[in-house]
Amino acid sequence: MEHNSSNFIRNIIKEDIESGKHKEIITRFPPEPNGYLHIGHAKSIVINFGLADEFNGKTNLRFDDTNPSKEDQEYVDSIKEDVQWLGFEWDSMLYASNYFDEMYKRAILLIKKEKAYVDDLTAEQIREFRGSLTEPGKESPYRNRSIEENLDLFERMKNGEFENGSKVLRAKIDMSSPNLNLRDPVIYRVSHAEHHNTGDKWCIYPMYDFAHPLEDAIEGITHSICTTEFEDHRPLYDWVVAECEMENVPRQYEFGRLNITNTVMSKRKLKQLVDEGYVDGWDDPRMPTVSGLRRRGYTPEAIREFVKETGVSKNSGTVESAMLEHFVREDLKLKALRTMGILRPLKVVITNYPEGQVEMLDAENNPENPEMGTRQIPFSREIYIEQDDFMENPPKKYFRLFPGNEVRLKHAYFIKCEEFIKDEEGNVVELHCTYDPETKSGTGFTGRKVKGTIHWVDASQAVPAEFRLYEPLIKDEELEAAEQSGEETTFLDHVNPNSLQIVQGFVEPNMKDVKAHDKFQFFRHGYFNVDPKNSTPEKPVFNLIVSLKSSFKL
Ligand code: ATP
Ligand code: MG
Repeated sequence: MEHNSSNFIRNIIKEDIESGKHKEIITRFPPEPNGYLHIGHAKSIVINFGLADEFNGKTNLRFDDTNPSKEDQEYVDSIKEDVQWLGFEWDSMLYASNYFDEMYKRAILLIKKEKAYVDDLTAEQIREFRGSLTEPGKESPYRNRSIEENLDLFERMKNGEFENGSKVLRAKIDMSSPNLNLRDPVIYRVSHAEHHNTGDKWCIYPMYDFAHPLEDAIEGITHSICTTEFEDHRPLYDWVVAECEMENVPRQYEFGRLNITNTVMSKRKLKQLVDEGYVDGWDDPRMPTVSGLRRRGYTPEAIREFVKETGVSKNSGTVESAMLEHFVREDLKLKALRTMGILRPLKVVITNYPEGQVEMLDAENNPENPEMGTRQIPFSREIYIEQDDFMENPPKKYFRLFPGNEVRLKHAYFIKCEEFIKDEEGNVVELHCTYDPETKSGTGFTGRKVKGTIHWVDASQAVPAEFRLYEPLIKDEELEAAEQSGEETTFLDHVNPNSLQIVQGFVEPNMKDVKAHDKFQFFRHGYFNVDPKNSTPEKPVFNLIVSLKSSFKL
């Protein structure tokens, strides 16, 4: 599918190929394994893998695992699963930690070139000495240590002689640079932490700004694509590659992050939602994680098309969540079987239908896609309809059931409401209706018209089912209003209390054999996915993917 949306990085790559600067394009997707991937990462995946595919290049999946205290194998596994599920294949799977020896050597090279020094200032002092946008930085008193002393101290840092935070290795660049990132950035720190890959081999770890360009250079990455918060780091990226005398010279390009309304898009915040029990894990269907969207029922196609439509530009715009919904609706429209499910059941007895009789009716599986064929559904004396398809005292223009009114039952007959029964609390618990055998669907009956068509499920064979209905996780407007009023507040104060609602209803008997991730359109309700964790053959569980209608226009 062609997209009109801009992609300035594609143009750069095209020029680089045409000018002969690169014969082959190599990109990488470099997640830090400190959480599950979210749809913002999906955008980065689509860009990196997509561009390499387009130009017959390669993409590495590289775990940027330089911060052992926050990283975990569970995250590594989930990231691999998600990238594959999105439909991409990596050329090599790599870990930044595989290059720790090489990085250490390059750090020593910097020391020998008097381009790096061991500093004893505390983190707080380093921050103080850095200055600000309006004030130049101050040089550390340790800045002019001799090469020998630096080599000795750095080795002893590596050997575990120093406490966390007591010493760092800093690049020696320029404390008065207008770019704060160049004011002698820290490139190695002491951290006595087990690493998921290298165990206890290291107690010093490279900082992102030092590690990342080296990783890219070692792998021969041609275009290192990241998000705009790293734009100001690019001079440092180039400095590291040049001063470390790397053979391959990768170039960094930045695009704007993807944000979506009514949710949060940061692993740190998503982890808080998980850890503090606001949601049921990283793959909770309300989460904007790839695994949450998958469990909700989103398809890789829908996510890819959505991401492409958001384009690649320098601006990090916030996209309406309705746009994401639009793409899954589009994808499922012709694929999902259209069936009937009752979310809030009300029993109807069809008093003039013979007791004990069951007939099978033809129902088309998808009127927009006739190739999907038809199925047979039972009809008998007792059925379930939705509670809100009956009103005792309807307002004007209510065309569904009320005393004396006639409606069409989808795929079946006209029925007319004769009587309703209430329980002691005054709730309507049962309707008595009559049907007209002449009005059978598909027989071409034209005798009279009715204004309403409602759905139903045969009560004698209905399968009990659970429906999980979702609303947006975060109330954006409420959060913004609170922030603007100057209130102390965080997104956690504005988690939507109605983000999950569970109802117990019924589905057609042929839904007994549904499998995890089967997707359906329940007539008049929306698209639903069979929950992969909690659904059973006795009682299927359906997650609402998206409702049917939207005012969203592309
Ligand atoms: P988060 O802030 O959610 O933790 P991150 O940038 O720290 O995200 P990484 O694991 O470092 O997460 O990200 C891997 C890649 O995904 C990076 O290249 C990053 O730029 C990209 N990425 C992360 N979030 C987004 C987003 N919202 N939109 C586009 N790309 C993103
Ligand atoms: Mg990060």
